[in-house]
Formats: sequence, structure tokens, C-alpha cells
Amino acid sequence: MENRKEEIDLFQQALGLPYPWFVRSRSFNLEEGQFDIYLDLHEHPTFTCSVCGSEDQPYYDMGSTEQTWRHLDLWEFKTFLHAPHPRVKCKTCTTVKFARLPWTRFNCSFTLKFEAWVMELSKQMPVKPASRIIREHDTRIWRIIHFYVDKAMENQDLSSVRRIAVDETSSRRGHQYVTVVIDSDTRKVVFVTEGKDRHTIGQFAEHLSEHQGTPAQIKEYCSDMSGAFLAGMQEQFPDARQTIDKFHVMKLLGDAVDETRRKEQQRAPELKKTRYLWLRNERDLTTDQKSRLATLSTSFLKTAKAYQLKVAFQEFWNSSVRVAPLHMQIWYGWAMRSKVPDMMKAAQTIRKHAMGILHWFESRMTNGLIEAINGLIQAAKRRARGYRTTRNLITMIYLIGAALPL
Ligand SMILES: [Zn+2]
Repeated sequence: MENRKEEIDLFQQALGLPYPWFVRSRSFNLEEGQFDIYLDLHEHPTFTCSVCGSEDQPYYDMGSTEQTWRHLDLWEFKTFLHAPHPRVKCKTCTTVKFARLPWTRFNCSFTLKFEAWVMELSKQMPVKPASRIIREHDTRIWRIIHFYVDKAMENQDLSSVRRIAVDETSSRRGHQYVTVVIDSDTRKVVFVTEGKDRHTIGQFAEHLSEHQGTPAQIKEYCSDMSGAFLAGMQEQFPDARQTIDKFHVMKLLGDAVDETRRKEQQRAPELKKTRYLWLRNERDLTTDQKSRLATLSTSFLKTAKAYQLKVAFQEFWNSSVRVAPLHMQIWYGWAMRSKVPDMMKAAQTIRKHAMGILHWFESRMTNGLIEAINGLIQAAKRRARGYRTTRNLITMIYLIGAALPL
């Protein structure tokens, strides 16, 4: 008898149960692989109201039914706590309400420790396999993740955000988009929302105001050249300076090279199967590929001209602040004389955004940042796979990228 009492006390300690709660009994169901722990109260002191949070409210009754919560597995058994749910006569609510229980949040069928385990796993692996380990349906896992991420986001403090980078990503089979805003200094995600137009920037400005920030504190932003984002930025942050992301500028030029090659290969068969020669970084090519590219790129092909222009623009980023504008102007003239239509078009886009591109030489807001966001988003997409609603994707981006105090 004495042994059994000690055992039960041990459970009490393991569960972290405060007085006056105690473990009344427990039972194993070997067939079901289930372990049940039954809790009870030594006495009926005052409790905190689960609705308004007022402490020391007088006990009213034991409620009508016993409740059950899934707890951390013990010895690989699914483990459940069972307990009556006492009620208080809350003076603040002026009615009878359920008491707050120390091991769970209100209206939840899991214990806090179980939920902490779910959150830990979800940070480390996609939800599907996590749900297999946890042995709960993934919709229940998602519900837990949404609850904690939403709660952490409510308490977000954005008062020190000064420089932001913005990018978009497709959320579901390329049909829907989400916009991601990160703090360039802390490299943390601060805002994610559905869509990719100027209104998403308006939503971010609102979000900022709701989280101890003001639009006026934003001094710098970095984005691609999409008109929608830029219009939104000028609207919401008229005093902030714009940097056009390097990565997107180089992508524009890479696409122009690719488009030129695609059109030209109809009548220049030597261009067949050369796509990656033109797109990859030269240092990543094999010796064979390098010599092939060397021959092709000095030919009179339009693709070769386009490629040389792209390489020249890569050099542009190594200029000093002082000569960068001149460097750009010379490059522009060369591109326009090239008579390569796709390159001329890209050059005009670059000229249109010259200020934002040149501001990089001062702000140094980098492409690495945008690429890092994209890497993170790909990870989030993998994690949200199998249950890919936009809301799940947004929550997963926050979970991975926002460094929330969870
Ligand atoms: Zn109350």
C-alpha cells in the first residue's frame, strides 16, 4: 500500500500537479495501448476564473461531467488525464464559470505539455510526419499551431523595425500569392499576407500600427521592380528610400538572355541544348562546358551579345558609389545599341528603376536576404504539404521565420 502511494506521488510530481490536485488512481489498458490517470481535489479552495482570469474566485460546484485531456505519452502509451472540472461563482463575470485548470488552456482537449511537444516537433518537421509520431489527425495539430502562432503574433512588437525587404511567393500551384515582409536588420519575418498587390503593403502598414510601430519609422525598403509593390510603398512610406533587389535585377537579365536564346535557336541550331550554359554561373561549369560557352559567347549570335551584356552588368555591382551611375549609363547605351530586343527591353526597365538600383551602393540591402526568404518559404511549403491552405502556409512561414517566443 505504501509503495502504491509513493508511486502515485511520483506521478503527481511528474505531472507537475499543484495542491490541492492529486492523482486518485491510474490504469493501463494494454490492449488499447492507453494509460489513464484520474485526478481529484483534496479540498475546494478558490480558483482563477477561466473566462476573465480573475483570481481567488469562490468554489461553486464540481461541474457535471468529468473531462479528458491528452497528455505526453508515458512509456509510449497514449496518456490521458481525467478530472472533474470545478466551477466558480465569478465576481467579475457575475455568473458561474469554469475554473482555470493548471495543466491546460480553456476549451482544449490537450494538456499544455502535450501542446508544447506538438509545437517543438512542428518547428522541426512537416506536419504530416509530426502527426504520425504524435498519433493525432493533422487537422488537430494545425489547430494547435494556429493557436500559438496567432497568440505570439498578437504580442509582436514592431517598434524597432526600420528597414524592410518585401517579396512574394506563390502559395498554391502558382494561383495564389502571399507577400512576405522581413526586417532587414534582424532578418526575421514580420508580416505575411495573402495577395501581391499594393494593398498588401497597406495591410502591412496597418499591421505595423497595431503592433507598436508607425509607418513613419520605415526608412528603407528593398523589393523587386513590380509596379504594385512600389506603388504601395510610395503610398504607405513616402519618406522611405527604395533599393531594388540585386537578385531580381540579375534575374531580369538572365530571363532576357534565355528569351533571346529561345527565339534564336530556331535558326541557329548550335544553340540547342545550351540553356544552362548561359544561365549558370561560369564558375559552376565543367571545363568542357566552359570551352563550349567561350566559343559560343564570342560568336556573332544575338544570344552571345545578350550574355555579354549580362556579364557586364554583373561587373557593375563591383563599381564604387561614385562611378556606378556612369557605369550604368555606359551599359545602357551598349544594351540599346546591341539591337537585341529582349535586352533592350530589360535595359529600359533598368533605366526606369535606376535610382532604386543605384541606392544599393549606399543601403547594401542584399539579394541574399530575398533568397533567404525564398529558401524559408520553400521549407514552409514542404511543411505545409498535404494540407496546403494559404492560412496554413502563412502560419508556417511565421513559425519558421518570425522567431516567435513560443
Ligand atoms: Zn470571470
